[in-house]
Amino acid sequence: MESIAVVGGGLAGLSAAALLAKQGKRVQLYDAAMLGGRATSQIIKGYTFNYGAHAVYGRDHSVLKTIIKSLKLEITWLDFSSTKAKYEFSGHLTAAPANAIGLLKTEVIGGTDKLRFTWEVVKTVLRLEKGVPELSIGQWLVQEKVEEDVSRLMLDLASSNFFTTEPENIPSVVYFDYYRKLFRTRKPVSYIAGGWQVLIDELERVLQEQGGTIHRKTKITAIEEKEQGYRLRDRKKTEWTVDRVVLALPPRDMRKLALPATVQSFIEPFAQYEPVEVLVYDVGISPYLKTPFSYVYDRTHQLFVTDLSHYDPSIAPENGQVLQVVAYLAHQEVGNPDYLAEKVKQIHRLLDQHYPQWQERLVVERTMKRAIVQEIKWKMGQTPLPNFMQDGHKETMAFVGDWCEGEGQLSELSFSSALNVAAEWQQKNAH
Ligand SMILES: Cc1cc2nc3c(=O)[nH]c(=O)nc-3n(C[C@H](O)[C@H](O)[C@H](O)COP(=O)(O)OP(=O)(O)OC[C@H]3O[C@@H](n4cnc5c(N)ncnc54)[C@H](O)[C@@H]3O)c2cc1C
Repeated sequence: MESIAVVGGGLAGLSAAALLAKQGKRVQLYDAAMLGGRATSQIIKGYTFNYGAHAVYGRDHSVLKTIIKSLKLEITWLDFSSTKAKYEFSGHLTAAPANAIGLLKTEVIGGTDKLRFTWEVVKTVLRLEKGVPELSIGQWLVQEKVEEDVSRLMLDLASSNFFTTEPENIPSVVYFDYYRKLFRTRKPVSYIAGGWQVLIDELERVLQEQGGTIHRKTKITAIEEKEQGYRLRDRKKTEWTVDRVVLALPPRDMRKLALPATVQSFIEPFAQYEPVEVLVYDVGISPYLKTPFSYVYDRTHQLFVTDLSHYDPSIAPENGQVLQVVAYLAHQEVGNPDYLAEKVKQIHRLLDQHYPQWQERLVVERTMKRAIVQEIKWKMGQTPLPNFMQDGHKETMAFVGDWCEGEGQLSELSFSSALNVAAEWQQKNAH
């Protein structure tokens, strides 16, 4: 039986490992830290705080849906209520243009601009608009002379879906490709009941049922090419020999491994790229603060708050509430303590304004000053890592993760790259 090592047990590595094991391959999964990587949760005083992933965008057209179906994962969806999504606009709240009704009601843009925006949506869905490879979306909007308010709204949307402070730098082709899919959805944002830990546990269950082996707290330090396959080594000098390898760890971590020279030089440029970074501020409060909204986007400061327990009461103790605020960070400022302190102040102001009394009800808080949302930012001049090298390694070495080529953004890239690799290797045998 063919043997495969998957190095990295985040959503991408776990998905690839489960899919390959389901095909009958002998799979060994290695993870240096906690299974789930950037999608793990932490429970403090009965409140569940997600490290990273918390929403699935357009689940009805997602790759995750395909994975759930093919692996028969047991997941309960909790869908976002668009009517409870608000934009902060000129000091007050207005409907978020998350769907047709929101667009009709919102004050973010006026009457004729709404028509123009709707026309852009229609053109995107019908593939009449695909962008221009050499232009970023910011340059495209200027070239097409799109009205200021419509441009601002198109960039605001991208800011929240790509978690970026510089939406104008997204390649226009990537922008239209992403929204073609998202504008067709009936489920713009959804959550997984119990948090992403449930998905991690489900993938782990399938992998083990299919005979896969999980090596926890096992940091791989070297991968050596053999005449037939590869030899892996960990920190403790334990060794394993396999036919193929899936590298499911970020390029920045990959370059710390001793790898075959051609692989090392292949990944090097990708390890230099700028990631998407945010500051995350989670609070657990009690008793619950009832509001007529569950999501507020502060477009001036590029931060948003989600009442996660509105969707999933199981993540807080009875009558408790989890609010998560995410602030997008400019990469050049990430190491600047004054900039980060100012972000926290802005977050407090947002909470004070929309959740008065949150301070008195505070049970627990957690701040992550720099969380990596996506390892490679989708901006002009940065490209994702291909799933395969175009040399002799193509049949035996693959790359998966949110830094890789695939569909969508964020975790959808982790899932789609895993699906691509599993599909390619289902057809071809090693050597
Ligand atoms: C604050 C925040 C909010 C987010 N919100 C969303 C959202 O709403 N929707 C969404 O879809 N996505 C979201 N994301 C993104 C999502 O969390 C990631 O895209 C996804 O979890 C990435 O998974 P991955 O497997 O590709 O990478 P990772 O999770 O980074 O997995 C890499 C794994 O490799 C392991 N590893 C590293 N080095 C070694 C080694 N030498 N040997 C063995 N193992 C090693 C690590 O321990 C890790 O487990 C968010 C992320 C953050 C931080």
